[in-house]
Amino acid sequence: MPSPKNAMEIFQYLDKSNCRECGHKTCLAFAGAVFTGQRKISDCPKLPKHIIRRFSVKEAGNIIEQNRDEYLADLKKEISRIDLAEAAKRIEARFADNKLTLKVLGKDFSVDTNGQLYTDIHVNPWVAVPFLNYVLHGKGLPVSGNWKSFRELTEGKARYPLFQKRCEAVIKRVADTYTELFDDMVHLFNGRKVAEQFESDISVVLHPLPRLPLMVCYWLPEDGLDSSLNLFFDETADRNLDIGSIFSLGAGLAQMLTKLAQRHGYTPDP
Ligand code: SF4
Repeated sequence: MPSPKNAMEIFQYLDKSNCRECGHKTCLAFAGAVFTGQRKISDCPKLPKHIIRRFSVKEAGNIIEQNRDEYLADLKKEISRIDLAEAAKRIEARFADNKLTLKVLGKDFSVDTNGQLYTDIHVNPWVAVPFLNYVLHGKGLPVSGNWKSFRELTEGKARYPLFQKRCEAVIKRVADTYTELFDDMVHLFNGRKVAEQFESDISVVLHPLPRLPLMVCYWLPEDGLDSSLNLFFDETADRNLDIGSIFSLGAGLAQMLTKLAQRHGYTPDP
């Protein structure tokens, strides 16, 4: 079987019972995670082995790159089928003129009842996908103030190696070379420097989504040890957003910060 062209091609083979045994709330969400390379089709225990064998799913990173735009189109269609005003109440977003609006990194980000996106910032698919999943499935739980690493979140452990490679390692390389990075996070992305956490040298809290704060902690090189950088999430994060979307937010942030540094003439070490 050739690689699927969109999440719906995977969805058609699933049980469609939304039983949640795979850790996703719906079979469609699971199909999206398979399509973007964050889950394997074999992670659905209800799928017959002959179907699993027919899928030739490629390595995760390639699929993410190739298919994210198609997945975004599927999510937009899903938005057009829900009651957006009710969704706005659930996640405490604004709703006016048929548009749901909330803040992404301090800037207004909206979607209308047809799934059309509006924002003052460049629409990065890495951010648009989590935004739409937050609108579709977010519980709107209040932030607890207790931080967890990505690997401590539900389903985070298995995905952490890829998260470390695509998010934390990338942002660390930027931070190592672009010294204004943390000031830019504050001024451009409405971040907030907080007292050093986990004995880090710099800690900045960002809000890629209103109830999904993300804390970047950076440790400077010391005594022959290399610098290090980790991202932390509120302990409610995995209930306010699916783990694939949390992954995507981290990857999107890494991409945005890399471009920002490059615009200022800095070239992060490979
Ligand atoms: S385990 Fe399979 S059938 Fe159950 S929700 Fe996940 S994808 Fe759907």
